[in-house]
Amino acid sequence: MNIILLGAPGAGKGTQAEIICERLSIPTISTGNIIREALKSGTEMGLKAKSFIEAGSLVPDEVVIGIIKERLAKGDCENGFILDGFPRTIPQAEALDKMGVVIDKVIDIEVTDESIVKRLSGRRVCEDCGASYHLEYKAPKVDGKCDKCNGTLVQRKDDHPDTVLSRLEVYHKETEPLKAYYEKQNKLVIVYGQDEVQDTTKLVLQALEA
Ligand code: ADP
Ligand code: ZN
Repeated sequence: MNIILLGAPGAGKGTQAEIICERLSIPTISTGNIIREALKSGTEMGLKAKSFIEAGSLVPDEVVIGIIKERLAKGDCENGFILDGFPRTIPQAEALDKMGVVIDKVIDIEVTDESIVKRLSGRRVCEDCGASYHLEYKAPKVDGKCDKCNGTLVQRKDDHPDTVLSRLEVYHKETEPLKAYYEKQNKLVIVYGQDEVQDTTKLVLQALEA
């Protein structure tokens, strides 16, 4: 099954992606994680993306489309994949269609802007494996340490309050139109994000089975 997870930054796409990925044994492709990796290792692509990601704006379409083309060509995507954070603009969605990639379902996780701000300010991510946590809603077993790999948990630069508002603005302007785009293709399913991760997961799994 080829799945897209849509939703505002901090709606819980990454967390749900990790869970579906284990359940269905298909890889998650997170453009955000790929770009942050590139940034850390200082590749050319990372350098190109740095100023955009830190300002909370989108990395140019051609850069992310290139990332996705390369990633989807790998063998582990043959039995399906979950796209987390791609597409984020209409041209990106059109690029997927042009590549001949057939999407089965688009799950849109809806969360209000107010809770997004709360969620992002409490979010912490693992420096090593990218897993995400929340100080209040999804605390790690050991303070400041990743449950999965014992890496150090940090706050992303773009999760600071001043950047969050501009990311939300970008989401409403550039990404939200994708709902109508996939609604037209009859692929959109809306799921309302719940306070408890597992409650949202239930709804997501129902949406995938429907
Ligand atoms: P979140 O969903 O929490 O905003 P991501 O990790 O998906 O976080 O993305 C972080 C940043 O990476 C974005 O703000 C943007 O700068 C860049 N990025 C990720 N995916 C894309 C994309 N598809 N198009 C453009 N920029 C992207
Ligand atoms: Zn980790």
